[in-house]
Amino acid sequence: MCALVNNVYCVGRNYQLHAAELGNAVPEEPMIFLKPSHAVVPLEGSVLKLPMDRGSLHFEGELVIQLAEDYAPGKSVDELVKTMALGIDFTLRDVQSVIKEKGHPWTAAKAFKSSAPLTPSIAFPGTAKLADIDFTVRKNGEEVQRGNVKDMIFSLQRIIDYIGEHYGLGQGDLIFTGTPAGVGPTVSGDVFELYWGDVRLGRCEIG
Ligand code: ZN
Repeated sequence: MCALVNNVYCVGRNYQLHAAELGNAVPEEPMIFLKPSHAVVPLEGSVLKLPMDRGSLHFEGELVIQLAEDYAPGKSVDELVKTMALGIDFTLRDVQSVIKEKGHPWTAAKAFKSSAPLTPSIAFPGTAKLADIDFTVRKNGEEVQRGNVKDMIFSLQRIIDYIGEHYGLGQGDLIFTGTPAGVGPTVSGDVFELYWGDVRLGRCEIG
């Protein structure tokens, strides 16, 4: 999955309960931000080097889809997406709070190196079957997040159409589709495991 990574799009506030836990209003249209491709690193057997000295570092587990071909209006998710993975959108929460107040871009809070680790990919089961399976994040062996596409505010199709129309979407582009409730801080030594149903797709440790 990582080999062809080009643009890395992320959706903010795509689950009602997560927007609420951070005190954010639910957006009326998809809220999109970007990470550089340098943010993407393997989330399987890896020790992640992350900025541990800039205030609170939060994990946000997310379902990640990759475009198998270039977007064109009218193309469906099932035509465009052949692989998916799970990832963590690491966020410097204290930095983000300052940025939000000042109206600065989110780069310093969201786009640092290794901020988008990604599990090995699996075949995309198709949008109809996707809702049958939850994804979960376990931190030090304990479930901390559980998500399902059916709880998303904006569907995968809406997200793809929105990004494709406004920013462009091509083969190899990744989309982090937003995080469910349960985000929280992490410290050195924490171990994260990301599960698709009962199958563990990846494990990483915070260095
Ligand atoms: Zn996120």
